[in-house]
Amino acid sequence: MKFIGTRGTEEKKSFSQAILNPAAPKGGLYSPESLPSIDEEFITKYTDYKSLAKAVLKKFEIDISDESLDKALKLYDKFDTKDVVPVEKIEDDLFIAELWHGPTRAFKDMALQPFGSVLSDLAKEKNENYLILAATSGDTGPATLETFRDKENIKVACMYPENGTSDVQRLQMVTIDAKNEKVIGVKGNFDDTQNTLKKLLNSETFKNTLKEKDIKLSAANSVNFGRIIFQTIYHIWGYAKLLQNNEIKFGEKIDIIVPSGNFGNALGGYYAKKMGLPIDKIVIASNINNVLTEWVNSGVYDLTTKHLIKTASPAMDILKSSNVERVLFDKFGAVRTAELMESLEKNGKYSLTDDEVAKIKEDFIATSCSDEEGFEYIKEYAKKGYIMDTHTATAIKAYKTLNSQNKQVAYSTAEWTKFAPSLYRALIEDKQVHDKEALEVISQKYNVSIPNMVKELFEKEITQKTVVSKEEIEKEIINFL
Ligand SMILES: *Cc1c(COP(=O)(O)O)cnc(C)c1O
Repeated sequence: MKFIGTRGTEEKKSFSQAILNPAAPKGGLYSPESLPSIDEEFITKYTDYKSLAKAVLKKFEIDISDESLDKALKLYDKFDTKDVVPVEKIEDDLFIAELWHGPTRAFKDMALQPFGSVLSDLAKEKNENYLILAATSGDTGPATLETFRDKENIKVACMYPENGTSDVQRLQMVTIDAKNEKVIGVKGNFDDTQNTLKKLLNSETFKNTLKEKDIKLSAANSVNFGRIIFQTIYHIWGYAKLLQNNEIKFGEKIDIIVPSGNFGNALGGYYAKKMGLPIDKIVIASNINNVLTEWVNSGVYDLTTKHLIKTASPAMDILKSSNVERVLFDKFGAVRTAELMESLEKNGKYSLTDDEVAKIKEDFIATSCSDEEGFEYIKEYAKKGYIMDTHTATAIKAYKTLNSQNKQVAYSTAEWTKFAPSLYRALIEDKQVHDKEALEVISQKYNVSIPNMVKELFEKEITQKTVVSKEEIEKEIINFL
């Protein structure tokens, strides 16, 4: 399978080229030229997650050896459940697929665990050295550090806003003890952190240092197709699980409800549908940063009237949702995509035509959810015995308000333990407490366990102590290299 740029390409790339060097020409993203198809036999054949994953990856005909794929998929053995992604029945027509049973307790592990292994194998094979730069608001950082920890031929520099993450998220980063990884707290907010990263990529001193040391740059964010490919698998798994449990008959269409930020998870669902999975609608759940809801409902993507609002579901506090571009490309082609994205970059907005909006609506519907609404759903389901995090709650709002006739699979994208202070506000009282206290109180009151990897964080030695101002980041990274 070959990959082409969403804004046009002269040259098609292989999978390995597209993931090592994810920036496509003219600022675009690499997308598959065509998708494989799956049928009833395929969807009903596999009863364990790794076998299904291997079969899906083989369908994509990527240029990665079986040995490397097996090694990457073996990392799902580290997840704390045999199913990897358990699917729980919550209502007669609602199922929750939990994507957070990996080492950092959020859905980023689903893709980053195997992706890190594949990328490091490729770098080794080519005898090249790569630097992965990451700016994180909380979940991507820990998952990136975890997957590349002590990997050969890869170095990671990960920046986080000093006071912008939860305690658990920060501790997951600053207790990492790996020679090839540097964690840098930045005095400022997530925007400062991300802007610094962008500046760094244009700095001549920085580029020269990389050249001298013969280090190439790559990225592990969800513009990298190497993450998206692993995010098609669990959508197929969810459907197969409903079949196995006799909840649906083959061919019956379901909706999937996706708490969305950068649109990687939803894009995986869109590809799965295009491959032949019987999905009716992909439901985009947003928080009050509802640019995606507007986009689906009206075809207008408008950043000029918006500023980013901090919410209790911070992993979805995003206005420029990168992977939407891949949907535009798939539906309207490279010329139109380049035109729309150029308008977004120049004027801060674009508008789809009525025909185009109708095409988007064939696959997507969308809702947004405020923190207060989310807290109410968290409370309601806690009473029924299911504890969910703030991101998952946005999916419940979609379920409750859209009244679909289909069975629905909603994705739970983080374990509650990652956002315990917000759950404390929803379930105990409207007061700001630290993660440790919130974890203890909630776990006792609701009789839910806290996994060891979260408990241990509070006892672990802090190994990454660097906290600097924006201006000093470049120097820190160069010293590390
Ligand atoms: C990253 C993340 C999301 C958003 O996923 P996208 O693929 O970026 O849309 C939602 N919830 C949690 C907990 C996340 O970490």
